[in-house]
Amino acid sequence: MPTSPYRPSRVDLAPGEHTDWQTSAACTGLPPSAVFARTEREALPALRACERCPVRARCEEVVAPAENWFDGVSGGRLWRNGRPVQPSSATHAALEVAA
Ligand code: SF4
Repeated sequence: MPTSPYRPSRVDLAPGEHTDWQTSAACTGLPPSAVFARTEREALPALRACERCPVRARCEEVVAPAENWFDGVSGGRLWRNGRPVQPSSATHAALEVAA
């Protein structure tokens, strides 16, 4: 998981805590273009990773996408300008094939 856009906002983190949850992130190693995607197509690899991610809730809690105009994938959803993008039927189908 790229670290630069992830800044604690709503929650106070213990020293080093942000790195602890990020080491468990299922999207580790994906290109930034997938994690910080603007389109569903670009986001598919990250959304697939979210399906098996053990830190999904923590990801959304720390990133707080609705509070900072976030663009990209967090907590299993694609966000654009801090709002969740409603998945298209094509995205649903692609994620079901991958499951
Ligand atoms: S929930 Fe998705 S975006 Fe967040 S750390 Fe897990 S795989 Fe990455």
